[in-house]
Amino acid sequence: MRENFILYLVVPCYNEGEVLEITTKALNEKMQTLIKNNVISEKSKVLYVNDGSKDNTWDLITKIHNENNLFCGIKLSRNRGTQNALYAGSMVAKEYADVTISVEADLQDDINVIDKMLEEYKNGAEIVYGVRSSRKKDTFFKKITAGFFYKFMNFIGIEMVPNHSECRLMSKKALEGLEQFKENNLFLRGIIPQIGYKTSIAYYDRGERVAGKTKFSLKKMINFAMEGIISFSIVPLRLISALGFLMFLISFIVLICNVILQQINNNISDLCFIITTIFLVSGIQLLALGIIGEYIGKINYEVKKRPRYIIEEELLKQNKEINDEKN
Ligand code: UDP
Ligand code: MG
Repeated sequence: MRENFILYLVVPCYNEGEVLEITTKALNEKMQTLIKNNVISEKSKVLYVNDGSKDNTWDLITKIHNENNLFCGIKLSRNRGTQNALYAGSMVAKEYADVTISVEADLQDDINVIDKMLEEYKNGAEIVYGVRSSRKKDTFFKKITAGFFYKFMNFIGIEMVPNHSECRLMSKKALEGLEQFKENNLFLRGIIPQIGYKTSIAYYDRGERVAGKTKFSLKKMINFAMEGIISFSIVPLRLISALGFLMFLISFIVLICNVILQQINNNISDLCFIITTIFLVSGIQLLALGIIGEYIGKINYEVKKRPRYIIEEELLKQNKEINDEKN
């Protein structure tokens, strides 16, 4: 039976100065209750990951850490994006914790899901996916794009848990599994189902941000979707081959028809038709080249084996000592 385990909440923060105090208050209450009820160990912590924020986020994290040692933090050397920030936090937390749960800094994920996730963990799950029960509070645009995204991913054969954001529980064992995935292009929602082990789902309501603005521009959303598709599927490359074959077949038939028609009446040379065809074919070729280029670009990044993140500062020097002392 799993009990009195060390939980680390991993919270990525990018320019979250406006919400951090509110978040800290809510997470503090939640963690204290869990500690008091002996659900989690008193060695449990909240780990803020400052993802190269340009505002006062790191100063706030330092202040919060000095006032309350339930909170600790790491500072990445620059902005690396949510996926890398989450990964960095999880890998650091793995050294101290039995289990981690990732939550957004803006409290959009209802934090009561933590209790449900811990229940599942107690019952033996190594990974628990937080799944939003509805998208009522999302903007119309986000609803449409998200719906299309999951359908498309499913269509090209990428295994993903629908409506699961980045809110998830991972045991130490699952994190050790994750560590073995060496790819540089991180798409956690695609990688994590590949780890295996016993998994489970916890449903929650997703609200609006308590303060501040979303850090996900349309550009970031498109990059994220591309990352998922290119890192997990070669179906787009196959579609190109299929398209190429189809084009060849159609042109071949058109050519035969032309030759036959020319034999019947000597008047088929249509410049407009030819130009349109050239444009059509060039367009398809450019598209195909673009998609191949995307894959080559990813390979280029992978072979360089650049670090996913660099930690500039840490506010967790005593965490190991606390663990050792209390053992
Ligand atoms: N975030 C991050 N790095 C980034 C962008 C976002 O660490 O480059 C964090 C952000 O602080 C938040 C979480 O990732 O805790 C989700 O971001 P946000 O709430 O802006 O996204 P949305 O919920 O609107 O999709
Ligand atoms: Mg958010």
